[in-house]
Amino acid sequence: MFHPERDEDTICALSSGAGRAGISVIRVSGKNALEYVRKNCSFLAPQPESHRAYLGEFKSSGDDSIDQVLVTYFSFGHSYTGEETIEISCHGSPSIVSETLEQLIQSGCRAADPGEFTFRAFMNDRIDLVQAEGVLSLIESQSRSSRRHALRQLRGEASKQFQKIEEDLLWLLSRLEINIDFSLEGLQSEVPETISAKLEGVIDTTKHLLSSYESGRLLREGARVVICGRPNSGKSSLLNAILQEERAIVDATPGTTRDTVEGRKSFGFASTVLVDTAGIRETEDPVEKTGVKKTFDSLAGADLILLAIDLSQGMTVEDEDLKMKLDPKKTLIVGTKKDKATLFSDVDIATSSKTGEGISELEKKILNFLKAHEPIDTAEVIQARHYGLLKKVSPMLARTRALFETKSGEEFMAFELRESLNLIYEILGKNFNEQVIHQVFKDFCIGK
Ligand code: GDP
Repeated sequence: MFHPERDEDTICALSSGAGRAGISVIRVSGKNALEYVRKNCSFLAPQPESHRAYLGEFKSSGDDSIDQVLVTYFSFGHSYTGEETIEISCHGSPSIVSETLEQLIQSGCRAADPGEFTFRAFMNDRIDLVQAEGVLSLIESQSRSSRRHALRQLRGEASKQFQKIEEDLLWLLSRLEINIDFSLEGLQSEVPETISAKLEGVIDTTKHLLSSYESGRLLREGARVVICGRPNSGKSSLLNAILQEERAIVDATPGTTRDTVEGRKSFGFASTVLVDTAGIRETEDPVEKTGVKKTFDSLAGADLILLAIDLSQGMTVEDEDLKMKLDPKKTLIVGTKKDKATLFSDVDIATSSKTGEGISELEKKILNFLKAHEPIDTAEVIQARHYGLLKKVSPMLARTRALFETKSGEEFMAFELRESLNLIYEILGKNFNEQVIHQVFKDFCIGK
């Protein structure tokens, strides 16, 4: 990705989606953008106004008209990449697009690598690495919530949190270094309370960011809603009723779902993965045993559990046993086969997959559960990369605190703080590390 020798090139690429469309947008960026594009768009003034659109014909080197286009000019320092940039909106035909790109290359441009525009924006300090990742998350967002969080990240709200940690670490380091010098000279050093307060502040911020990641993951990857219960309690039917399709096999023979079956469903702001599991019961059958083990694995990774209770039989001893094993904070007791219910059972919601009764209320309950877990903070960690690095910072800060409390070794404290600072630099992309940069930009598409 990082080719210093190629960074002088003026690059071009289709930035809108491929295929037939109303219009397509081709982006050109680099120090010769205007010079090259003017070879094809002679209607452009030698010095166009930045952020203004100009209408005219795009011509080939042989003076053939290729299309009528709208050209928007962005001057150096006032574009996405920070370089002189031109956006050409042409008619959205793949043949026009390929011919336009070919002509631009003949005029001096080079075809852009995937993510190269954003890479240049990063290299030119228009955005930091966290914001660059925000761009990618925004393009990939699949729900209202993940889109909102990605937009905040692009705006720099997450970066601000990391910058605050950076500032505080630098402050602490400078004080410690002064203290080390002072004590060597036998002078009075910085008041310990101020240092302690600042350190606690950084520890709190880090903790807060780490805990926000879990809920962020819920939004990005979707919440895992796992349906469990005894064999034949109506789990597969419930999954199908929620998904409104025949996703899981429904069978009257107990123990027929031996593997987990998954389906995706979007609940307004967040998407969920619904998982149907093998029925839980004591069994000697080896295949069924494996199924039961898989069910417990699924339950361990569940964000929300729906425990299916067959209302035609009421809550049995086995049901009670299973209920005891589940975390009540994330379990909904769902009565099934309400149409066949004879006994009263204490459940959170009674449903019938056969008549559809209670299904929409159940969906409301799922939505409410997800809403309660929607992060309300203005900025948080949603990227695994940031989480992984912050997770390393946390014990370093804890060690710093322990050293501080026992008043031992300011040099050791300074070491931990410096290491923490390096990790924060890695998050923000301040320490240029080719591997890290490659890792971030490898998932970008061409034109972004
Ligand atoms: P699983 O083994 O827990 O996945 O249960 P299934 O969904 O395969 O259902 C077991 C049996 O109960 C099947 O014969 C279903 O037709 C029946 N069943 C499931 N849900 C309902 C319901 O809401 N009403 C009635 N009357 N029967 C149901």
